[in-house]
Amino acid sequence: MYRTHTCGELKLVDAGKSVTLSGWIQRSRDLGGMTFIDLRDRYGITQLVYNMDMDSALCNEARKLGREFVIQAEGLVRERSNKNPKMPTGDIEIEVKRMQVLNGSITPPFTIEEESDGGDELRMKFRYLDLRRNPLKNNMLLRHQMAFESRNYLNSQHFIEVETPVLIKSTPEGARDFVVPSRVNPGQFYALPQSPQTFKQLLMVAGFDRYMQIVKCFRDEDLRADRQPEFTQIDCEMSFVHQEDVLNVFEGLIRHLFKSVKAIDFNEPFPRMTFAEAMEKYGNDKPDLRFGMEFTELTDHVKGRNFPVFDNAEYVGCISSAGCAEYTRKQLDELTEFVRKPQIGGKGLVYIRCNADGSFKSSVDKFYTPEELQKIAAIPGARGGDLLLIMAGEQDATLRALSELRLEMGSRLGLRKKGVFKPLWVLDFPLLEWNDENKRFYAMHHPFTSPKPEDIDLLNSGPAKVRANAYDCVINGVEIGGGSIRIHEEGLQKKMFQVLGFTDAEAESQFGFLMQAFRYGAPPHGGIAFGLDRLVSLFAGEDSIRDVIAFPKNNAGRDVMADAPGEISAEQLKELSISIKKTDK
Ligand code: ASP
Repeated sequence: MYRTHTCGELKLVDAGKSVTLSGWIQRSRDLGGMTFIDLRDRYGITQLVYNMDMDSALCNEARKLGREFVIQAEGLVRERSNKNPKMPTGDIEIEVKRMQVLNGSITPPFTIEEESDGGDELRMKFRYLDLRRNPLKNNMLLRHQMAFESRNYLNSQHFIEVETPVLIKSTPEGARDFVVPSRVNPGQFYALPQSPQTFKQLLMVAGFDRYMQIVKCFRDEDLRADRQPEFTQIDCEMSFVHQEDVLNVFEGLIRHLFKSVKAIDFNEPFPRMTFAEAMEKYGNDKPDLRFGMEFTELTDHVKGRNFPVFDNAEYVGCISSAGCAEYTRKQLDELTEFVRKPQIGGKGLVYIRCNADGSFKSSVDKFYTPEELQKIAAIPGARGGDLLLIMAGEQDATLRALSELRLEMGSRLGLRKKGVFKPLWVLDFPLLEWNDENKRFYAMHHPFTSPKPEDIDLLNSGPAKVRANAYDCVINGVEIGGGSIRIHEEGLQKKMFQVLGFTDAEAESQFGFLMQAFRYGAPPHGGIAFGLDRLVSLFAGEDSIRDVIAFPKNNAGRDVMADAPGEISAEQLKELSISIKKTDK
């Protein structure tokens, strides 16, 4: 072994011991007669001292060593005269007697400290150096712990981990597939799984009863802070369960993670909200419940005063922000600009200040008398000091924009605190979503999701109204998991494919294997998948899932360290029977 101890474990009780440590040089300080080196490994930092009077040759050698050199140092543990209470090893130091340089290092391109001076792209290129820094290292340790505790809990509930293939036939989860050409089957392609959905259902048909897998999934989507082309799910499926059983088992998983990893207990059951209620109150199927500011609909209360914006609107709604009546003109302009951003899509913003002295002032004073403003403000129960922010327009778009405004106000008012966690279940999602461009329905969750039995008849008469046995687990405005009770009868599954616009032949060619399996006694089953990356970033208080992935891709889906994707040789292309069409860039 290269060491007797790690750099994070020696304490005052070890004083007098002869030890050997190995690690990287975090920094060194030369104070004339003495040289100090902070030696770092995964476990911590220990101070090494070299004394000119005691061993000038060794001390001179130590002075020559640069940052990130890997060394082995042997010496005596002694009490420090100048203790550092911020470091776990801050009471001691090692008086070095012998030293060996195990490897040198060229100067790193950025500082490897708590806070680095390196930009994002540079740190991505040298990710292995960035991973030496505490913030990223701690995120990886947290990720390990959460994966471990998830397996621990699920194992205690009799789930078994089964690996499913990565080269598969495409499974639609609503995104584009990544495809892999098959050399031995020229012109044919595998897809990378968007999730192991069909496989986990087949494992239920196989009688495995409870399946789990911490598994990579691949979706070729436009990237955002909480999306990566490859990401990890805690993927689960259970047989002989109703929705209620699934919710209970997996509320248990989330509770276990909070308890074991963060020592947080939730005393109450997770609140449950229907999709319809979430949309009405928060304009969002993943509401952030760390703060209130629920929507109040004003549509019928504000029409008929010759204000065309309200008169012509399908929906008028407001939020009431406590203590914001004194917002300046500039602040209100900023909010208007915010809602008008193309990604928010609002046309404008109407405000009513409910002044502390009982007076009202609004941007629509021309159309509404103070008494009318007072009446409107009373609907959401606004009080003196509140600011009413009102948006109007087409219903869905306005709800969405108002939702963004609510989140913005929550952030401005400091109501979205990182250490506060508000989980909930969102239930009763619509089964189908109408796509105006393609003039057809898509499955809101995926095509294997079962309609609520009482809504099945509506599949013919009013498909848009059919609710699904589908559920999402949401924490702080982030969808951290979603699943459903599945269809397990061939007939209903066929019907579903029809509603989704598949011909019988298309359904057969894409999903024949699943429908075939359903002919051999498929048990009722259901499941869920949690996004491990999102869960870890939530626990870590990070804004991007990139910070909890060891080797993530950048916003253009590139691995900037290894420089992928890249071209392949003409020979490889030939073997794969692929020719590349040249396009002008
Ligand atoms: N396969 C689904 C997904 O990836 C999760 C599930 O329904 O269990 O979203």
